[in-house]
Amino acid sequence: MKKEKNLKLSDLGEFGFIARFSTSFLRNLPPEVVGIGDDCAVVPWKGKKKLLVTTDLLIDGVHFLKEKISAEDLGYKSLAVNLSDIAAMGGRPLYALLSLALAPETDVRWLDQFFNGWRALARKTKVQLLGGDTTKTLNKMVINVALLGEAEENFIRYRSAAEPGDIIAVTGPLGNSEGGLRLILSGLRESQLGSDEKKLLKCHYRPRPHLPEGYFLAHQLEVRAMMDVSDGIDSDLKRIIERSNCGVEVWLEKLPVSSFLKKCSQKYGWPLNEVAAAGGEDYCLLVTIDPNGFSRLALRYQRQFRRPLYPIGRITSDRGHFIYLLNGRPVALKKSGYDHFKT
Ligand code: ADP
Ligand code: MG
Repeated sequence: MKKEKNLKLSDLGEFGFIARFSTSFLRNLPPEVVGIGDDCAVVPWKGKKKLLVTTDLLIDGVHFLKEKISAEDLGYKSLAVNLSDIAAMGGRPLYALLSLALAPETDVRWLDQFFNGWRALARKTKVQLLGGDTTKTLNKMVINVALLGEAEENFIRYRSAAEPGDIIAVTGPLGNSEGGLRLILSGLRESQLGSDEKKLLKCHYRPRPHLPEGYFLAHQLEVRAMMDVSDGIDSDLKRIIERSNCGVEVWLEKLPVSSFLKKCSQKYGWPLNEVAAAGGEDYCLLVTIDPNGFSRLALRYQRQFRRPLYPIGRITSDRGHFIYLLNGRPVALKKSGYDHFKT
């Protein structure tokens, strides 16, 4: 490690940086408040009900490309990524604040469409927009959403509750959003897109927050830790094992991938395992489950949602150790999950 004097943010990475400043803020919190470290902060509210609080920032050129995404999709997605953090705690969304930094020449029809996209998802999920802020930007567009939700104290799931032996599962296929991003960055034109490509783009632009799944899973006694897949399971599982003081093995051949991602991976020569493990923004849920109750829970889940809960690995007691197994053999992945400051 470099000397403090020469230390750059890129040396620490996003999560090293958060760890560096968060300790002092966590120390002074009352015991009934859960601060930095999970998908949402948790604060006392009405009796046994707790308030969940989360925020996400989206910047043109970093989180989206304004010239590529439609205004409607961007409005939808800005809310969706925040809803996903409420889902990750097992909560129900309530209220939102929306702040926008906009260039003066922004087309007003574009803004109307942004709100159409937002409104469609807000109606479906019963989220009320209560306020926000609007300012001028001299540079790129910035969107910040803060979202409040609620959950009952005993049915909130944290990243820190995983135990050695737990089965790790996800609630949806992995890598579709990364596939969509690869297509966008490859510069393919609309006319060149087949139906598989269009499905990947839809997953990237319109991720579905897994709110019903999160609520259901948080109410099952077998479920221990839960979070949403925002940076890719590679990065997100690291957060779980850090906070739960354990290790993890991931079974690569078990990662659920859609037929259209498989076909596009073959067509464009993408490394499928890496796209599935390290690709971000799928916004499904990642859960760890008591191994003794996994089969029963998976059956109940299948009955409820008519879709499987996909087992993808196991929590180990090997603190800090992360291994990928391919048919039982350890393998290394070239690419790791998303970190804003590490390249
Ligand atoms: P998520 O991807 O679910 O939004 P992250 O894993 O990115 O959450 O963040 C980890 C934790 O660090 C969260 O609890 C988040 O609220 C907190 N966090 C991130 N950036 C900051 C910041 N600048 N100030 C305070 N807390 C932060
Ligand atoms: Mg999250």
